[in-house]
Amino acid sequence: RWSRVKGRLRTSVGEDVYTSWFARMDLEGVQEESVRLSVPTRFLKSWIQAHYAERVLSCWQAEMPEVHRIDLTVRSAVRPVVQAKEAPAPVEARRAPAPELRSTATVPVSANHDALGGSPLDPRLTFASFVVGRSNTLAHAAARQVAEGRRGDPVMFNPLYIHAGVGLGKTHLLQAVTWAGNSGNERKVLYLTAEKFMYGFVAALKTQTALAFKEALRGIDVLVIDDLQFLQGKSTQAEFCHTLNALIDAGRQVVIAADRPPSDLESLDDRVRSRLAGGLVVEMGSLGEELRHGILKSRVAAARAHHASFDVPEEVLHYLARTITHNGRDLEGAINRLLAHSKLNNQPVTLEMAEREVRDLVRPQEPKRIKIEDIQRVVARQYNVSRSDLLSSRRTANVVRPRQVAMYLAKTLTLRSLPEIGRRFGGRDHTTVLHAVRKIEALVGKDTALSEEVESLKRQLQE
Ligand code: ADP
Ligand code: MG
Repeated sequence: RWSRVKGRLRTSVGEDVYTSWFARMDLEGVQEESVRLSVPTRFLKSWIQAHYAERVLSCWQAEMPEVHRIDLTVRSAVRPVVQAKEAPAPVEARRAPAPELRSTATVPVSANHDALGGSPLDPRLTFASFVVGRSNTLAHAAARQVAEGRRGDPVMFNPLYIHAGVGLGKTHLLQAVTWAGNSGNERKVLYLTAEKFMYGFVAALKTQTALAFKEALRGIDVLVIDDLQFLQGKSTQAEFCHTLNALIDAGRQVVIAADRPPSDLESLDDRVRSRLAGGLVVEMGSLGEELRHGILKSRVAAARAHHASFDVPEEVLHYLARTITHNGRDLEGAINRLLAHSKLNNQPVTLEMAEREVRDLVRPQEPKRIKIEDIQRVVARQYNVSRSDLLSSRRTANVVRPRQVAMYLAKTLTLRSLPEIGRRFGGRDHTTVLHAVRKIEALVGKDTALSEEVESLKRQLQE
């Protein structure tokens, strides 16, 4: 009878599904109207219960109409998930293939791990190169906590769910967790993009190794999934849901990143969404200027490891941090371009080069860049002198003060260097510019009329 039921099941679900889910289901016994079946793992049990309970029952009923209940149990031989909950399983036990798996799997065990090779990791994306700022303090702290956990530690937030817009550091943080978590070699941390997860599962289904795929997934201490918003397809979502539940129930850590909060993952099942929201959900906000500056510095330092002669002057870093505002990828892109440009042309990086090279990365809605010519024009109008007076060598009082004010504004409102400002003011020396800047700075503190004048000039220029 049992083999006839299995035959029905096989026809009903198809060969592939049958081999991945039911090949290792055994009959334990039949008692009046209930049938006891067993499977080797808790994971299989919950999967079958969630997806095939009715199918199994109706196959039985076709053979034995009096059956009204199926009890699915987990055979005691292999229960890694249950064990892990109370006490961490010894490393050997977890690394070695379970005996059940060895005897029945259709593929060599090493293939499980191939099916589960994580997504490639970028060696540069570590905690060491991750810059902490206001917008990512919490996410960083939580990620660190997760990375530093040891096998068997109570899991504090599960899953840890990090969401942020494009280029705000999600992948960086997730890979940092993976590097750090794996470096101790005690725990197995697997980093997968949602796409890779889908691909792995679908490929495993095709080659009938879905079971091995699932088994291998469950042997992981920390599962890191990036870009969850790309998870698509009903069966992969269901698979993901089960993996998530199995891991969390077993006290394994799950870390997820997505571009939106769980509530906005519209294509996901409600149950998955609420499970996701049940851990710690942290948003990383946009990168502030200070953080952008830090990221640029860290990128330059990384580039210098291979190109010792490469350097980016502080004024260029400031310029980039101020003007490239919207995401970390553009910051990285800017440094790469400067590196390429300065290498290819064998030139040091200058502000002019930076302005030229990164023009398209600068967002138009940024505060407009003030030009020295504009400053000269506005100042000249305000003091009723001509622009050429400001550039001339005349030293009469009525032009000296306006000229100093214009130089001061050029220094404070633009990113030009002192020598450059000197050049633009009729070829003056940078010490002259410095003197002018200091003079006006000192006067502004004491002379309210002058200070108001300077403020009004600034407003005019910024409009
Ligand atoms: P996301 O995955 O959120 O789209 P990434 O992690 O790929 O963003 O980040 C984009 C770029 O910005 C990468 O080069 C990354 O290293 C850099 N980046 C973003 N945030 C930080 C940060 N806090 N510290 C250092 N680099 C960062
Ligand atoms: Mg990313």
